[in-house]
Amino acid sequence: MTYKSVNPYDGKVLKTFEELTDKQLEMALETAATCFETWRHTTFAERAAVVAKAAAIMHARVDEFARPVTLEMGKLFDEARGEVVLSADIIDYYAKNAERFLAPQHLKPSSGEAEVESTPFGVLFGVEPWNFPYYQLARFAAPNLMAGNVVMVKHAGCVPQCAIAFEKLWLEAGAPAGAYTNLFISYDQVNRVIDDPRIKGVALTGSVEAGKIVAGRAGQSLKKSTMELGGSDAFIVLEDADLDKTVKWAVWGKMNNTGQCCVAAKRFIVVEELADRFLDKFQTALAALKPGDPMDKATTLGPLSTEAALVKLLDQVKRAVAKGATLVMGGKRIDRPGAFMEPTILADIKPGDPAFREEFFGPVALFFRVKNEDEAVALANDSEFGLGGSVFTKDVARGKRVASRVDTGMMFVNHPTWTTPDLPFGGIKNSGYGRELSSMGIQEFVNKKLVRVASIDAPA
Ligand code: NAP
Repeated sequence: MTYKSVNPYDGKVLKTFEELTDKQLEMALETAATCFETWRHTTFAERAAVVAKAAAIMHARVDEFARPVTLEMGKLFDEARGEVVLSADIIDYYAKNAERFLAPQHLKPSSGEAEVESTPFGVLFGVEPWNFPYYQLARFAAPNLMAGNVVMVKHAGCVPQCAIAFEKLWLEAGAPAGAYTNLFISYDQVNRVIDDPRIKGVALTGSVEAGKIVAGRAGQSLKKSTMELGGSDAFIVLEDADLDKTVKWAVWGKMNNTGQCCVAAKRFIVVEELADRFLDKFQTALAALKPGDPMDKATTLGPLSTEAALVKLLDQVKRAVAKGATLVMGGKRIDRPGAFMEPTILADIKPGDPAFREEFFGPVALFFRVKNEDEAVALANDSEFGLGGSVFTKDVARGKRVASRVDTGMMFVNHPTWTTPDLPFGGIKNSGYGRELSSMGIQEFVNKKLVRVASIDAPA
């Protein structure tokens, strides 16, 4: 059973869901395609009324939406509440700004008139991950619905209650049937949906492995895709950083969502003058985290999303140590029920080690000591990933210079990589291509159509 709600805090199965039959899938595709034919002709104001209502519903019922997030994938309840608010803010942002972002662009040709219109592609298909069960959906659905597209989504198997809650949200907000469709489907059916001529664009957020498969499939039928994939963000600490502030951000950047963020700080690269003191304080702060029920406010360390995720991460740490990495702290399962792992720091990882190239998706920090800024930049860039990254220094101009030298899609100075509705999000290299959020995210699946008015006679 792929779509299964299991509480990672105690391993209890909460609910299971049947996959769609091929006939049900066909009906869903047809409903979406039919819906597009009317939705595409609605005005921005009509679409904004529905989209703003969806945002208002989420804002009004934060706890109700947050509960299944905590129950299905173990996010601390306060963080789950924060995710609901962020998702609602994204939805509202596009309700308010989409018309401006997609306004016809008037060109200044040497003669006559020309403008570029933005028109919707049609039915889009998204494949989404469990780590931010609403936020990921919001940043795909909201801009595209406002652009006049309709969307179908295959969500991750472990968060089916969130998937259903998000689909219901749109119906309650007044969206027509087929504007937003949740699909409980198998990987085979995913392939068939991508191939289906009614689907005009494909977006995936997830691992590099899934990205290659889904992007490859979309490419076979020349469908545009966007890929938001994994990352191994560098967290660079220069010798002039404010140590106390930096350590606090290091803990947040590593442990937010129990380290299960594509843009979690994963590689801590510290200039040697500060390295020992940073490591000491970082270790003390991580050791103070309190495992427990993620619904309980006193808990500061939740479980991983699933037992399988825990087993995979423990094995990754074991392999890293077998290849020579030093276990500075942690590395084991916490002796209690549920998918809990000790906060972990690994050091002495060499460029030739597999761990140097891998993404550790959970409470595992890789620690590197470097001589200076140049070495920090070189190490940060020695990665197949290029999602986010951060640099900590009291000298903001220096921070910006370092940020410009790191090859990623996003760099932050004095803050770990993070997201707001109005900032573009996405990566380069194996972290994918395309952007979500901001004015850029809404441009990915619209036709930039030139309309030219000329008044010259054809050559004789
Ligand atoms: P994942 O295994 O790739 O799963 C993501 C989605 O892809 C799920 O819906 C999954 O379905 C589906 N999927 C996986 N393999 C597939 C296949 N062969 N055919 C069709 N669908 C397939 O990723 P994950 O482990 O759940 O999520 C963590 C990864 O996502 C990390 O690498 C993280 O960095 C990345 N991520 C990136 C961003 C970003 O914006 N760049 C944001 C969040 C997460 P099932 O659940 O049914 O397997």
